[in-house]
Amino acid sequence: MGIINLLFHENFSLATHNTLGLDIRARYFCSAENLQDLSEVLAFARDGKLEILVLGGGSNVVFSGDFDGLVLRIDFQGMEFDDQKVVVGAGVNWHRLVQHSLERELFGLENLSLIPGLAGAAPIQNIGAYGQELDGVFVALAATDLSTGEELVLTRSDCHFGYRNSIFKGELKDRVAITQITLQLSSDFLPILEYQELVNELERRKIDLPTALDISDAVVAIRKHKLPDPSVVGNAGSFYKNPELSSQTLANLRHSCPNVPSHKTEQGLHKVPAAWLIEQAGMKGESVGDALVSTQHALVIVNKGNARCHDVLALAAKIEQQVQSQFGVLLEMEPVLY
Ligand code: FAD
Ligand code: NAP
Repeated sequence: MGIINLLFHENFSLATHNTLGLDIRARYFCSAENLQDLSEVLAFARDGKLEILVLGGGSNVVFSGDFDGLVLRIDFQGMEFDDQKVVVGAGVNWHRLVQHSLERELFGLENLSLIPGLAGAAPIQNIGAYGQELDGVFVALAATDLSTGEELVLTRSDCHFGYRNSIFKGELKDRVAITQITLQLSSDFLPILEYQELVNELERRKIDLPTALDISDAVVAIRKHKLPDPSVVGNAGSFYKNPELSSQTLANLRHSCPNVPSHKTEQGLHKVPAAWLIEQAGMKGESVGDALVSTQHALVIVNKGNARCHDVLALAAKIEQQVQSQFGVLLEMEPVLY
């Protein structure tokens, strides 16, 4: 290996690098700001035979214990707007990108306001909120293969986006570092007002014909009111995906539980709010050690202070068991488990 310019921290605490605030350690930790850094990191990992875990803001990860490898924080910066397209460094804060786009009167991200984390992680689960998904504006991304160092370009169809899903949670899981994403925004604004809570908030503000900024402001206000703030109390957002049930399964469920809410998906399935199932199963407020099912939002597991990995996982197992035995529904965890 040539000259090493990067700092590789050893036995590094990740407590401030995961929003759940789990105090675990990585054998090595470093940040990469550009492709040169990245190739140094890959050489270091290859020489030490180290597994690499790519980390953004740590807002969608759950650790089961210490990580005996190299945690690589992606810190590529830069936002280049060209007409209605934008090329964004993977290390750019997602909400900052949303704000910059709105300032330039470019639309398509407003319902995705205030989602924590970095732009490079947005494709991993095809981030979505209030009826908008990354998929709707995504063009392509640049990535580096972690084992060969090869630079790749993946287009929208290559990414296999689905509901909180993509190829990066399947075939390419932990195999690439995304370095840049390209989005196609629009100077024509089409409001997406499918979510009742958003409509209610705009009504409360006496706004009949909302601008994109009005929608962004309303989404920010709802989120601040409804969700525990990870900078105050550790959490990783929604701990489960909303289960999508067939018509038959929903009909069976309605037999014993007539008032279960549901939303029809484009694929003809029925999305049932996991938060509702968890609450009905009596798990809201349940805890194991310092891991607690938020009393503010039943879909969120919070860290009251000193939660350990196994507290979080034991609480999750309890939730899954209870929902399964009461409703016959299997919950699927949303954050990525390491
Ligand atoms: P991390 O948590 O660091 O990483 C998540 C996964 O992506 C890991 O597997 C990691 O290895 C991988 N990864 C990260 N960066 C890269 C990269 N550059 N290259 C390759 N792999 C990478 N999500 C939604 O979809 N909608 C929401 O509305 C939403 N609201 C949230 C609210 C709260 C309060 C919290 C805490 C989370 C919320 N999330 C939401 C989840 C989370 O914010 C998003 O999934 C976000 O995109 C994660 O970004 P991150 O940078 O923190 O990723
Ligand atoms: P909510 O508005 O209370 O609704 C509960 C669930 O029902 C939502 O999660 C949503 O599914 C679904 N839903 C509601 N209205 C719908 C509609 N008109 N069409 C289709 N599905 C509908 O949900 P919330 O928990 O407060 O979250 C609000 C939004 O922010 C949701 O989109 C949610 O996904 C997102 N969010 C995500 C995270 C995360 O960590 N992933 C955390 C907080 C909020 P969807 O989840 O599929 O949208």
